Amino acid sequence: MQISRGTQAVVIGLGAAGLSTVRYLVNRGVRVRVSDRRAVEQIPPDTLAFLKQAEVALETGGHTAAFLAGADMVIPGPGVPLDLPVLQAARKQGLPVLGELALAAGQYAVPVIAVTGSNGKTTVTSLIGELLRASGKNPFVGGNIGTPLLDYFADPQGYDAVVLELSSFQLDLAGAFRPDIGLLLNISPDHLDRHGSLEAYTLAKQNLFRHQQLGDRAILGADDPVAAATPLNPEVGRFTFGRAEGCTARIADGRILLTLMAGALSGKTEYVLSGTTLHSSVNQLNAAAAILAVTLAGCEQAGIAEGLRRFVPPPHRMAEVATIDGVRFINDSKATNIGALEAALAGCESPVVLIAGGRDKGSDYSLLREVVGRKVKHLVLVGEAAGLMRAALGSLVPTEAATTMEDAVRRAMTAAASGDLVLLAPGCASFDMFSGYDERGRVFAECVHQIGQERLEA
Ligand code: ADP
Repeated sequence: MQISRGTQAVVIGLGAAGLSTVRYLVNRGVRVRVSDRRAVEQIPPDTLAFLKQAEVALETGGHTAAFLAGADMVIPGPGVPLDLPVLQAARKQGLPVLGELALAAGQYAVPVIAVTGSNGKTTVTSLIGELLRASGKNPFVGGNIGTPLLDYFADPQGYDAVVLELSSFQLDLAGAFRPDIGLLLNISPDHLDRHGSLEAYTLAKQNLFRHQQLGDRAILGADDPVAAATPLNPEVGRFTFGRAEGCTARIADGRILLTLMAGALSGKTEYVLSGTTLHSSVNQLNAAAAILAVTLAGCEQAGIAEGLRRFVPPPHRMAEVATIDGVRFINDSKATNIGALEAALAGCESPVVLIAGGRDKGSDYSLLREVVGRKVKHLVLVGEAAGLMRAALGSLVPTEAATTMEDAVRRAMTAAASGDLVLLAPGCASFDMFSGYDERGRVFAECVHQIGQERLEA
């Protein structure tokens, strides 16, 4: 999307990404206005000072159609619902509604690797960053992972690659954005509240590849039938990772076997994951995806192997907490949808006492019956979704409800025997009981350590 000095833009939502968008536009001479649903008192003073100094008009306490008068475009932040009345009004007036990615399209001066999928995005994005750094590169890593993706443009000097984690929300309004290397890891039902249907959600994710052209590469998760069937432009290079024969990056016996057929990179390479933090079955997939991406980006085996050794996974994802009386406790609080819960269980070797539940997102928990029947010996349910989960799964295994996380951990410890695994993988959002998945995981770990301490003292 062309912007120029004097273009008038309205930014909706002053979160971190919204603020980054305002900065980006102001630096390009765009006349920016911003509208936020919060009251002015709730906006940080340094943000207000910046807006004032940059002569950005501010509407607070909600969004009005009148505030759009004279605008050339409207840019909602990535968390803003697309059916907001002000966005509907904008569309009715024929105003383009664009996301940050549409602004960034064609602007990055270095190759872009972009990662999307329902689960594993943060792990794969940060691993790609680490593998690039271990290979002597200096990547900008951002997007849904923390640093807003337009922050790159504030000081692009020194970066030789851009690695972006992209949510379906960001891809909904991606304009002509195209990554040099795009990864779609998997698709499982999540955020259907925003996208309405699995089809719409799938299309948003697949948007990543829509504008790819000759020389670009697409990396698809082959174990996921929906991701694997992603339509690509015919001139785009198609690469796959997974457990099936024929994958470009194939997982077998805990190793990643990379087979590239043509071009300068052709040949076979092997990576061993034992001794790294990436040995769980879910992380083997993530490692395969990341290794494939950086190999296509020109990294060599020694640097990649060093990066795999160095990698520290982001917290609350299949993290070992403690072993108490032979019972291992694992924190996968980031499993906020049933796809992540299913993948976590599928990768567990020992009998599992599962702690699940939280705020329901409209999920069909009966989809978990097969894996729960196979892996779980006892189910402890918490939060608002406990009743729905019990109705779907309670007939399969002994099931009980807990009132707090501490209660859940104590019940799980009682139900577990030496050699079992207690897994926190909620399959739900956390906001009924916690400020987020990180607080939920922290509280879980504290309760586990408390029990460990009591056992020591007993
Ligand atoms: P995202 O950024 O997509 O939410 P994360 O890396 O933060 O992904 O992991 C989110 C959850 O998904 C965690 O519970 C993690 O254990 C699980 N997970 C990670 N990788 C995968 C994968 N490849 N397939 C399924 N689940 C995964």
